[in-house]
Amino acid sequence: MTTTAARKVKTVPRRTTRVRAPAAGEARFVYRFDQLPEVERRARSWDQVKALLGGKGANLAEMTRLGLPVPPGFTLTTDACRAFLRSGSWPKGLWEEEVAALRELERRTGKRFGNATDPLLVSCRSGAKFSMPGMMDTVLNIGLNAETVQGLAALTGDPRFAWDAYRRLLQMYGSVVLGVPDEPFERTLSEWRARRGVQNDADLEAKDLQAVAEQFRQIVRATSGREFPDDPLEQLRLATEAVFRSWQGKRAQDYRRAAGIPDDLGTAVNIVAMVFGNMGRSSATGVATTRNVSTGENSLEGDYLINAQGEDVVAGTRTTEPIAHLAEDMPSMFRELQRIARLLEKHYREVQDIEFTVERGKLWMLQTRDAKRTARAAVRIAVELAKERLITQVEAVLRVAPEQVDFFLHPQFDPTSIRTARSEGRLLAAGLNVSPGAAVGQLAFDADTAERWTKEKRAVVMIRAETKPDDVHGMLASRGILTSRGGRTSHAALVARQFGKPAVVGAMALEVDAERKLATVKRSPVILREGDWVSLDGTTGEVFLGKLDTVQPSLDDPFLLELLGWADRFRRLGVWANADYPRDAERARALGAEGIGLCRTEHMFFEADRLPLVQTLILSRTEDDRRRVLDQLLPLQRGDFEGLFRAMAGKPVTIRLLDPPLHEFLPAHDTLLKELTQLETRLELSPVKTALLSGEVERKRAMLAAVQSLRELNPMLGLRGVRLGIHMPGLVQMQVRAIFEAACNCLEQDIEVFPKIMIPLIATANELKWQRSALEEEARRVMAERKRKVPYQFGTMIEIPRAALTADEIATLAQFFSFGTNDLTQTTYGISRDDAETGFLSEYLAKGILPENPFDHLDEGGVGKLMELAVRLGRKTRPGLEVGICGEHGGDPKSIDFCHRLGLDYVSCSPFRLPVARLAAAHVALRERPRRRS
Ligand code: PEP
Ligand code: MG
Repeated sequence: MTTTAARKVKTVPRRTTRVRAPAAGEARFVYRFDQLPEVERRARSWDQVKALLGGKGANLAEMTRLGLPVPPGFTLTTDACRAFLRSGSWPKGLWEEEVAALRELERRTGKRFGNATDPLLVSCRSGAKFSMPGMMDTVLNIGLNAETVQGLAALTGDPRFAWDAYRRLLQMYGSVVLGVPDEPFERTLSEWRARRGVQNDADLEAKDLQAVAEQFRQIVRATSGREFPDDPLEQLRLATEAVFRSWQGKRAQDYRRAAGIPDDLGTAVNIVAMVFGNMGRSSATGVATTRNVSTGENSLEGDYLINAQGEDVVAGTRTTEPIAHLAEDMPSMFRELQRIARLLEKHYREVQDIEFTVERGKLWMLQTRDAKRTARAAVRIAVELAKERLITQVEAVLRVAPEQVDFFLHPQFDPTSIRTARSEGRLLAAGLNVSPGAAVGQLAFDADTAERWTKEKRAVVMIRAETKPDDVHGMLASRGILTSRGGRTSHAALVARQFGKPAVVGAMALEVDAERKLATVKRSPVILREGDWVSLDGTTGEVFLGKLDTVQPSLDDPFLLELLGWADRFRRLGVWANADYPRDAERARALGAEGIGLCRTEHMFFEADRLPLVQTLILSRTEDDRRRVLDQLLPLQRGDFEGLFRAMAGKPVTIRLLDPPLHEFLPAHDTLLKELTQLETRLELSPVKTALLSGEVERKRAMLAAVQSLRELNPMLGLRGVRLGIHMPGLVQMQVRAIFEAACNCLEQDIEVFPKIMIPLIATANELKWQRSALEEEARRVMAERKRKVPYQFGTMIEIPRAALTADEIATLAQFFSFGTNDLTQTTYGISRDDAETGFLSEYLAKGILPENPFDHLDEGGVGKLMELAVRLGRKTRPGLEVGICGEHGGDPKSIDFCHRLGLDYVSCSPFRLPVARLAAAHVALRERPRRRS
């Protein structure tokens, strides 16, 4: 099949190739864009086509098939790249195939490679299966040399254009193929701009560019020790090799590691007939996305430049025009672009990121791919595509990763803090708001410093004039990214969006001097230096001096709510919340919680009005003293629980009785000792021994004695959980009384309640038996006093391996189980959840001894096996036993996946994680369904 583009060009057969192309059935390395059906016969799915041709090659071929204006070209497959990289040399037959395809390109375009009068020029572009923007190499204008540049000048009647194309080839070729640094080229260009008194390269004249080209040749010779090859075939061969090798480049490797792309895929290489956006005012080049990829709004979004080549737009070296202006500059091109954008979205059923060039009034499509987008845009786009019936609701739900929902949880700046900063004149600059979220950090002017500081646990904002692929490691390490140049599609913007980093680009008021590590601010005396604090708002594009306060965003984005509503229809797992206070419970309900899976009652004891009471309780010597304090605590706890029941209105509320070791409520031993010593010294030296001072010393002594008596070497394995309840029954009895009195109060007001009393940290069934009978007696007492029947359940946490191993016995006494996987991970591994993560665990992770942190993601192989056993044994004793999870893993998508497979009834997580959990639970359920289409 011929392309629209190919049909329009002259197709005078010039000569037939002498190089033999492979016969039918032979393994091939090269496919023309119009040979997609042949690729499809070999690769059975679109995914495999992409694996073979790379994303760019596959989509160029697909656009060709759709009849869109794609310049003719061909693709060297990833097989070819892998074979080349394996042996370090050209696999047999590859070069012959490439040359044969080039000859065919000559035939189709009617131009000849290396011909002095009508030269064919090609680009050599990388293109892996998964897009890695800017991470690998590309060489444009291959085929130009001292002779053909003259031919091109004569043919186009535009010597300026020809010399500009030639100097670009020399520069790109020098840097990509021969490893010549960019600086000498850039210096030469800026010297010429200064000499001619112009701002842009586009304002240099033909003879200037001719001189620039000559200097570039000398730079190549002097720096690489090699002459720039005049033979176009040699140019092509070396450029192809360089692009293959760029797969192994450091920045490509860094990017793959960060994006989780396997190292063994290789890149395809696309050889495409050149079209030129720099042929004067009727030519242009640009990039666009078919919808706004920052907000998700359904409108074409992008940038373009008149009279420029593609890299000018992305590099951010010239300030681009927003795509909407194309409607005025080139109305028919704009309409055509809109038509193609719609067609591509319909075809791919996905928002596209396109590159185009207008060559003397003719539009050419150079690339299309699924667009990267912010989390906010991902949600809106998925919902709107489903409403437009381009995709189903199932697909919409699956298109948003649970981790993306995390964005809605990113902090934003507190509006008051913004107002104050403004009024104090701390607004430094405004740029493009390319990746939302608030970032506060110290300025680092280079990627290595950014990375190093982050390792030192400093908050970093990386600032550059513009970023390059070499900066990616620093960008990934930083909290936020700030550039003074570049547009929405600049490298900085793309990378920031993909990795969810708040970013402001093109903040033109800043003049960044990376060498001297300072930035000046136009119309302001402020000079920013390395280490200065700034706050950048990727949502509005504003940059402030100093640290602004941040607040949690509201999670009421209507598109997110709609998507989560759809997700709820597909999930099987219940999603509950860990909430300690009524205000948390209210938030949790608003975010879709179907119950409270864990209320850590000790948190209530830390409140300012309670802590002194709890301390007095601990210090009490007599039963009477203890009773007096408990009587004071009772109404406070009752109020807490009433608030929770009200907020949850009939939904289950799981209340865990006191868990932590008592010393956590007392001051730290060493601090107390120091304070006491100081007081004693004061008392000794004081001429007047006041009663006040003596009393204070006495109190401190008593406190220290209590702390010492409660001191344990391993408090996490000590007197806590159920052990504490058995040891100090009065406290938990008071909690149970408070729960039931609160429940009766609610019932009297017609508020439904369903308390679930949960006993922590049991190891044996006997502990539960002992505790349950004591507590149920109290419960019955309250119900009798109030003449009310409260529906309730009595259950336990599974946090110790022995509990999991004897779950059948435990289930005789427990009406529900909830996995406390924080403790279960700690006790299964025998590592401390308080110390390990800041100690040897990070070394284990760095050395790969542990593939991931078991406190982040459930350890399926170990902890998971215990859970599986506990579920099975528990349900053997008590069929239908309700089992949930309330450790931190309950909000982790990967662990949620596992919990679903384990057959748990619900996951419980912090209120802000609820949207993530709802979506993750839907994903795992949907992935289980038989697939209709890939
Ligand atoms: C747990 O151990 O997983 C749990 C939820 O309890 P805590 O974190 O309070 O010990
Ligand atoms: Mg625990």
